[in-house]
Amino acid sequence: MITKQIKSAIRDIPDFPKPGIIFKDITPILKYPVLCTNIIGAFVEQLKGTQIDIIAGIESRGFLFGLMLATKLGIPFVPIRKAGKLPFTIKQKAYKLEYGTAIIECHTDAFEPGQRVLIHDDLLATGGTVTAASELIAEMGGIIAGFSFVVELGFLKGRERIAPISDTLVILAQ
Ligand code: 5GP
Repeated sequence: MITKQIKSAIRDIPDFPKPGIIFKDITPILKYPVLCTNIIGAFVEQLKGTQIDIIAGIESRGFLFGLMLATKLGIPFVPIRKAGKLPFTIKQKAYKLEYGTAIIECHTDAFEPGQRVLIHDDLLATGGTVTAASELIAEMGGIIAGFSFVVELGFLKGRERIAPISDTLVILAQ
């Protein structure tokens, strides 16, 4: 039910951000408050039994439902951002992209050692971004409690890549 609603709200944008890529635009979901509430409800339901102390949301679309979910669970939220965006002292992690490298960062006081962290993003593609986020969090003493995504691009096999990091994976639509 929720899967169907998410899939019908998402739109495919051909050749964005570059030729040959079909981009899944999740922004129309945000125009439906009941759907947003149901998405958070589905995450809460499917994460029952998982101990989560804090949610790390990946810039920038990971902030949307990541913060809503953290608020619903009554736990803290921290942003993981692209290089140069965070104002306080930062810790960073470089990771490989198809062409070149990217850097993600978080504040040095984002996580307490031993905290169980749910990593949230809007979409799972190759899994490269959340793998780098996992490494960053682990280096700061956090424990990866699991992952949550609104949607995945299954053909890129991100699931397989992140499976060794945590067994807990919630994806609402494929
Ligand atoms: P990955 O690192 O798993 O290959 O890529 C996932 C990251 O790229 C996520 O932060 C996600 O927001 C972004 N991304 C890649 N492709 C798409 C897409 O088609 N739609 C959306 N909404 N995000 C995408």
